[in-house]
Amino acid sequence: MIFTDAHCHLGSRQYDLDRDEVITRMLNKGVSKAIVICCSRHDLMEGVKLRNHHPGFKLAVSIHPQDLEYDYSEKRLDDLRKLIEEYHPDMIGEIGLDYRSHPHTKVQQMHFFIAQLEMARHYGLPVNIHCRKASADTLNILKEHPCKGIIHSYSGSIEMARLFIKEGYCLAFGASVLFPNSHKPQQVISQLPLGRLLIETDSPYQSPVRDHRHEPEDIVNIYEAISRIRNISIQELTAAVENNFDGIFNI
Ligand SMILES: [Zn+2]
Repeated sequence: MIFTDAHCHLGSRQYDLDRDEVITRMLNKGVSKAIVICCSRHDLMEGVKLRNHHPGFKLAVSIHPQDLEYDYSEKRLDDLRKLIEEYHPDMIGEIGLDYRSHPHTKVQQMHFFIAQLEMARHYGLPVNIHCRKASADTLNILKEHPCKGIIHSYSGSIEMARLFIKEGYCLAFGASVLFPNSHKPQQVISQLPLGRLLIETDSPYQSPVRDHRHEPEDIVNIYEAISRIRNISIQELTAAVENNFDGIFNI
């Protein structure tokens, strides 16, 4: 059985002191496929090393929508293009719109979102989408700039989920499903086509335990919760999710 983590920041500084141990722990649990999201040069350098050693790890690079507070010059996009040409990532992400934490940079976010979608199209890469309180704008932009990929940490309605699926996207769910009162994601997961479902931790973020650093090995708990929601075996779920993951990268 292979567990797949469709979104984790393994290059993060939060793992600088024990990254090897974190990787060993996840591999011991069978979490051998992952998308390593890199939104800084530091993270990317670590991510490149990880991908060299682990064939199941995919590399994603981007300018994060929460990171447009102080510098939103075109030079940042030129620098990203150079990184793509030099390191050949497998995906562009995470990119998107975050109106919940950064409503004041909406204009810059839209510009960088569209520019990075166009980069993904130019280089023929899938995308990993961050969307917070911005579903309508995100959907409209994805319609105008067609790509394929993943809506990360999906928290919207089943109706909106169907619209993203129509545009060719898979939806990824994380530790929020572990909370007993998380009726909305549980309802969406139970109605979603299995062929569009992905699972992620967003490590080191989004831990179900307060003030705790999240790790990809914890994804096994999320798989168990989702297998109960779907009423299928963990074997069936891991196989379906792995197949969806491979499909995004044409494996
Ligand atoms: Zn993330």
